[in-house]
Amino acid sequence: MQLTTIDEHRRHVERLAEALRSSTGPVRLRKRTSNLFRPRQRANRVLLDGTTLNHVIAIDRVARTADVEGMTTYADLVDATLPLGLAPAVVPELKSITVGGATTGVGIESSAFRFGLVHETVDEFDVLVADGGVLRCSPTEHADLFFGFPNSYGSLGYATRLTVRLIPVTPYVHLRHERFSDSEQYFEAVAAECASPSCDYLDGVFFGTDDFVLTRATMLEQLPGGAAASNYTWMQQYWQSLRGRADDYLSTRHYLWRWDTDWFWCSRNVGAHLAPIRLLAGPRLLSSVTYQKIMRAGQRYPLKALQHLRPREESVIQDVDIPLAAAGSFLALLHAEVGITPVWICPFRVMSDRHPLYQLRTDTPYVNFGFWDTVRSREQDGHYNAIVEQLVARHGGKKSLYSRSTFDEQAFWANYDRRAYEALKRAYDPEDRFPGLYEKTVGLG
Ligand SMILES: Cc1cc2nc3c(=O)[nH]c(=O)nc-3n(C[C@H](O)[C@H](O)[C@H](O)COP(=O)(O)OP(=O)(O)OC[C@H]3O[C@@H](n4cnc5c(N)ncnc54)[C@H](O)[C@@H]3O)c2cc1C
Repeated sequence: MQLTTIDEHRRHVERLAEALRSSTGPVRLRKRTSNLFRPRQRANRVLLDGTTLNHVIAIDRVARTADVEGMTTYADLVDATLPLGLAPAVVPELKSITVGGATTGVGIESSAFRFGLVHETVDEFDVLVADGGVLRCSPTEHADLFFGFPNSYGSLGYATRLTVRLIPVTPYVHLRHERFSDSEQYFEAVAAECASPSCDYLDGVFFGTDDFVLTRATMLEQLPGGAAASNYTWMQQYWQSLRGRADDYLSTRHYLWRWDTDWFWCSRNVGAHLAPIRLLAGPRLLSSVTYQKIMRAGQRYPLKALQHLRPREESVIQDVDIPLAAAGSFLALLHAEVGITPVWICPFRVMSDRHPLYQLRTDTPYVNFGFWDTVRSREQDGHYNAIVEQLVARHGGKKSLYSRSTFDEQAFWANYDRRAYEALKRAYDPEDRFPGLYEKTVGLG
């Protein structure tokens, strides 16, 4: 991975700022990849090219931080840190997720039960705001924008540089997969780990009413004698291994990307779970980036025209955050009313209640539930996504906005603090050069 220099970085930023200053009207950010899964219109907006802002700038081994450009992918950042025995404190598990995207889009992974959500592991960042200025944001400088940036989805400005906290890591990870048949016992075990961690990484999967797996992963300098590290980047599928073995070993790199090869389990939606397809595709093509491209192509004409040949389905792609005490009840109702399996389970801590656009309680751990599939439906389109929103509200949770939302404006702002948002918008984008949060995440912006 080639690092950029700070001077080169400044030139990249200046080009972006100049494009903003010299244009008029609404703008949009151009990136190489995206993990947004909601319908978008080709809006009449000036495209700002952020694709060159994708480098690691510097790694400080003593302070354990990395300075990176806003559109740097976690794949590139991890490539730069692992040889130094370091990794970002939280590494979202899809390789194409960028540091800026995960910070503004509430990223998470299995170390979040120790360190919190991605934005809580970012010490400061620079934001290009609507007047073309670049503001340094930290808890002490432009603190309103620093705390208001998570869950703003590029509607207040674009992060051009971020300082990411790193942690020391070992070459290997030991995984213990524990199976449960009882929801209460399962979430008790999650609560015990959150209260007194016995591992470095914690996540799990719900396969069905009486079928849960909790995976505790612990860093390891060396493999024990006779053990070999598994490899789930080609013919074997990680998610299928969870119920097949109690113990496993992975290199740290393969652990961090364990979900990317099969996009959790969504590779089966494009036939990539089948052995002959895997054999032909090879490890390089088996990745979330490939599946995203296939699924996006499927939404475009002429493939879209084939959709009427299939039974009616509603796409339900969601990540939601529920306080731990309500997690079992939420999951039971989600299973009864929507019925998607598997469901990814990722507990996390909340370090601060100062993020107005994604305010969570600090007196309890939360559980992130991720479910990404289609549901056969005879109902009006949006029915199942609306059920998810109602269940989240009933259980005191919050829903990520990277995917489809059906809220009306009043319900939306009851969740995401209208007053704080409007104050930020007035301060940093008074002429609405960036789309508004509601327009962008619920509308087609
Ligand atoms: C199937 C699926 C599973 C997922 N699972 C996980 C998961 O397990 N863990 C997890 O952490 N996340 C997960 N995500 C969500 C993902 O982290 C968020 O959608 C995140 O915002 C994506 O970041 P990105 O870099 O791909 O940004 P994009 O998808 O390109 O953009 C997301 C939004 O952020 C804005 N944005 C992008 N970069 C910047 C920037 N530099 N400054 C300001 N705004 C910016 C864009 O304008 C856009 O509105 C999942 C998403 C999908 C589709």
